[in-house]
Amino acid sequence: MPLIIKDEYPKKLFREDGKRLDGRDKHELRPIKMEVGVIKNADGSAYLEWGNNKIFAAVYGPRDVHPHHLAKSDRGILRIFYRMATYSVFERKRPAPGRREKEISMVISDCLEPVLFLELYPGTSFEVFIEVIDADGGTRCAGTTVAALALADAGIPMRSLVTSVALGKIDGEIVVDLSGIEDKAGQADLPCAITWFNDQLSLLQFDGDMTLEEMNKCLDLAPDILKRIYEMQLNALKEKYLKIREEVNKSEEIATEGGEQ
Ligand code: UDP
Repeated sequence: MPLIIKDEYPKKLFREDGKRLDGRDKHELRPIKMEVGVIKNADGSAYLEWGNNKIFAAVYGPRDVHPHHLAKSDRGILRIFYRMATYSVFERKRPAPGRREKEISMVISDCLEPVLFLELYPGTSFEVFIEVIDADGGTRCAGTTVAALALADAGIPMRSLVTSVALGKIDGEIVVDLSGIEDKAGQADLPCAITWFNDQLSLLQFDGDMTLEEMNKCLDLAPDILKRIYEMQLNALKEKYLKIREEVNKSEEIATEGGEQ
C-alpha cells in the first residue's frame, strides 16, 4: 500500500470508481498481520502491521514498581508507554514523549485495565511498551490491539482480549479504519475499543463533525468490524501454540529415532 508522504490534503478522498484512495471499500479494513512472542527479553510481546502502521508491544510484569511511590498496597498498577519513533512520520517528530503520547498512553491504559485482575497483584506493576515504528493513522487503536495481544502472550490472567478500531466520516460517507490521510483530511474520527468479556466499549473518542444518526451508524457497524480483528488476534495466539506443538513433536520424533538406533 503506498505511503502518502506529503502532508498535502487531497480535495477528494474517494476515487472516480467509488473506492477510497488506497483502493478500499467503505467498510473494508486495511491489511492486518499479527504475531506474538517476537521479543525474547520481554515477558510477553506482539508485533502488528496494520496498513502502513508497524507497531511492537512488549510486556513486563508483575514486577516491582519504579518509582516506588507509585505502588499501591491493595492492587497492582498498569503502566502504558505509547511512543512514536521520531522516524515513524513524515515530519520529524521530537524524540521526547510529548503531550499526545502521554494522552494516548492514558487512553490505552483505560481501555486495557478492565480486563486485568490488578486486585490480585498488590504492590506490583505491569508495564506495556508500545513502540510505533511506522505511523499512518489509527495508531492508538492498533496500539491497544497489539498491547492486549502482548499481555495475553505474557500469560497474564485476563478476563478477555481487547480490540480497537477507528470509524469515521470522509467526504460525507461513514467509513471504517481511517488511514493517516483520511484522519487528517476527513470530517470525523471515532476510535473505539471493546472488552470482549462483557461486550462493553472501553474506549469511545470523537473528533470532528458528525450527526447523531451518523454516530449511531458507526456504532452499529463497529461490533462486526471489531469481531474481524478479534478473530485475527485469536489466530495470532493460536499460531504460537501450534508452532510450539510442532517443535515438541519434532523433538519427540528425534528422541524416539535416537532411542531406536
Ligand atoms: N501523526 C504525525 N505526526 C505526529 C502525530 C501524528 O504525522 O506528531 C500522524 C500519524 O500518522 C498518526 C496520524 O497522524 O497515525 C493520526 O494521529 P492521531 O493523533 O489522530 O492518532 P492516531 O490516529 O494515530 O491514533
